[in-house]
Amino acid sequence: MKLIFLGPPGAGKGTQATIVSEKLSIPTISTGDMLRAAIAAGTEVGKLAQTYMDKGHLVPDEVVIHLVAERVSQPDCQKGYILDGVPRTIAQAEALEAEGIQFDHVLSIESLDDTVIGRLTGRRVCPNCRAIYHIKGHPTKVEGLCDVCGGRVVQRVDDAPETVRERLEVYHSLTEPLKGFYQQRGLLREVKDTGAVADTNQVIMDILEGN
Ligand code: ADP
Ligand code: ZN
Repeated sequence: MKLIFLGPPGAGKGTQATIVSEKLSIPTISTGDMLRAAIAAGTEVGKLAQTYMDKGHLVPDEVVIHLVAERVSQPDCQKGYILDGVPRTIAQAEALEAEGIQFDHVLSIESLDDTVIGRLTGRRVCPNCRAIYHIKGHPTKVEGLCDVCGGRVVQRVDDAPETVRERLEVYHSLTEPLKGFYQQRGLLREVKDTGAVADTNQVIMDILEGN
């Protein structure tokens, strides 16, 4: 099973991808996570990527496609995988097609701009164990400290309000056209953002089980 999760930043792609990954026993490939790992490791790719990511801009297509092509060739991807955050441009989608990769479903999570702005600007993350919180929806028990590991939670640089608006603009202009691209190939399935993780997941599982 090869799946793509599309949707604006803050739609919950990563959250849903993690749940579906576990249920289907296939890995999630998140280019955002891979790029943040490259930044943390101080690699050349990381240094280059950071200059784009901090501004809310896309990292060049070649960089991302190279990372993905390498990752999907690994043994744990034989049975399938979920792409989270990639492709993000028509050029990336064409590059994946050129690699001969075929997908079973493209799930587009449909969230309103105002919803995702509130989610992202209120998001706090633990850099240590990667737990995710929200100042209103899911606050830490002790202010500023991770419930899981006690580390200090922070705001992602690209979750600052101006950068969130920039990321949304990038989504609407460069990524949203992918819906038409995959619609033409008969693969697009729209999933309403219900606001509740379990409900949205049920909608997704129904699609994957062919209902
Ligand atoms: P979100 O979906 O919340 O914006 P991600 O973690 O998917 O978060 O992406 C964070 C940043 O990483 C993006 O704003 C972009 O700079 C970069 N990035 C991630 N995936 C891609 C991609 N496929 N193509 C180009 N840039 C990417
Ligand atoms: Zn933590």
